[in-house]
Amino acid sequence: MRAQPQASHFINGEWVEDRAGAVFDSVHPATGEVIARLHAATPSVLDRALDAARMAQPAWAALAPVARGRILHRAAEILRARNRDLSVLETLDTGKPLQETLVADAVSGADALEYFAGFAATVTGQTIPLGRDMAYTLREPLGVCAGIGAWNYPIQIACWKAAPALAFGNAMVFKPSELTPLSALALAGVLQEAGLPPGLFNVVQGQGDVGAALTTDHRVDKVSLTGSVPTGRKVYAAAGGALKAATMELGGKSPLIVFPDAELDNAVGAAMLANFYSAGQICSNGTRVFVHRDVKAAFLEKLAARTARILLGDPLDEATQMGPVASAAQMERVLSYIAKGQAEGARLVCGGARAGAAGCFIQPTVFADVRDDMVIAREEIFGPVMAVLDFEEEAEVIARANATEYGLAAGVFTRDISRAHRVVAALQAGTCWINAYNLTPVEMPFGGVKSSGVGRENGHAALEHYTRVKSVYLGLGDVDAPY
Ligand code: NAD
Repeated sequence: MRAQPQASHFINGEWVEDRAGAVFDSVHPATGEVIARLHAATPSVLDRALDAARMAQPAWAALAPVARGRILHRAAEILRARNRDLSVLETLDTGKPLQETLVADAVSGADALEYFAGFAATVTGQTIPLGRDMAYTLREPLGVCAGIGAWNYPIQIACWKAAPALAFGNAMVFKPSELTPLSALALAGVLQEAGLPPGLFNVVQGQGDVGAALTTDHRVDKVSLTGSVPTGRKVYAAAGGALKAATMELGGKSPLIVFPDAELDNAVGAAMLANFYSAGQICSNGTRVFVHRDVKAAFLEKLAARTARILLGDPLDEATQMGPVASAAQMERVLSYIAKGQAEGARLVCGGARAGAAGCFIQPTVFADVRDDMVIAREEIFGPVMAVLDFEEEAEVIARANATEYGLAAGVFTRDISRAHRVVAALQAGTCWINAYNLTPVEMPFGGVKSSGVGRENGHAALEHYTRVKSVYLGLGDVDAPY
């Protein structure tokens, strides 16, 4: 199986290769096969991309917003028309099952393009009466935005960054994760086909050093990272040092709280989605499942029965419900967390081991009787490992849910409407769900608090992060000078 792109980079509307850049492979994690071989960007490749973006951006910003939106709409249509091919590519690159990629990846990217395509032409400023005089504000693009992606939702992440950036008149240089470099290149081709002028969406490949070079480059006005907290700390510090705008979409250890009056089948289904979808590699996953003591036994019984039926296997088979994790290194990391959970005395309810001898498959794993101080309850595992913790009181569970450096997301299952809103109001998280989990429609702002992030993607909130305000004071009378 090969998925070799025409070249490693896409710059100024052209495929670009520089063989002086370090070679790296994209590997299909279900089989270990190399599906593509690429070169990391050299300084001269980065120069070309950044210069192209700077050159192209002013004319793009000067277009009528509705004209920018029209191009993004066309791109969304092409993405939808090619959904199957793009989904296969994403499945090859990430190992996520086709059953998921067909409904969650390129199509959610298309949603973002459609949303921001429509949003572009609605952006207005304010008029501010000042007595005799007045002022007004203009929403201006930032200029050149650097996007840096993680490996779990490659094309979605690229679209969540590119769609608002482009809609509001910016140019973007995007660096995908080195583990999943392919679909951002496909997106660049689609945007070009839709009529996006050259230079406005450029893709450069490489590891963290390429991301770091983008972060501090004087031609970059804003950095948007999706990645882990340790990377976020470095990128935010570097961007801050250069006084650049920055959005950080980082990791989490989110709580999902199941009260005793919850509709239990729904709560179990949500907990499974919150831990096993994408083999658990979702930033907002509800990996600390707090279940009230009164329903714990029933919850675990249903959970174990349904988890045992999860179909693990070839991600290209549409019947498969769970694929491998993204890389051998990630598999080892997840297995080491499972070993820590066992060593610390958590009770293994199901799973707990690698599945099969080939590929990076891990059994969907549930630990019960997990305590707050255990490593598996404190650190982001980013694999199919659920920790179930018991609780008794509302105030107690809120305090325990908040006792973490993270604050990306949280969920509450209860039929008591007052409790649902009261608890959500007290939870320290950027995104909360009531009787649902992990649904992230583009209409809803998404992002974290505390160490889980800075800024928001999607929704109206994205406008704040891809534009700046210019104030214009309009003197309507004589200048009153004392000298
Ligand atoms: P990572 O932090 O290892 O890498 C993310 C990206 O940053 C990669 O492209 C990498 O090359 C780049 N990078 C690494 N060091 C850099 C540096 N010093 N300067 C600039 N760029 C650098 O993350 P990952 O392992 O690819 O992804 C998993 C993590 O991403 C998890 O923690 C997950 O929770 C998080 N995530 C967050 C969101 C969100 O929206 N909040 C979404 C998806 C994933």
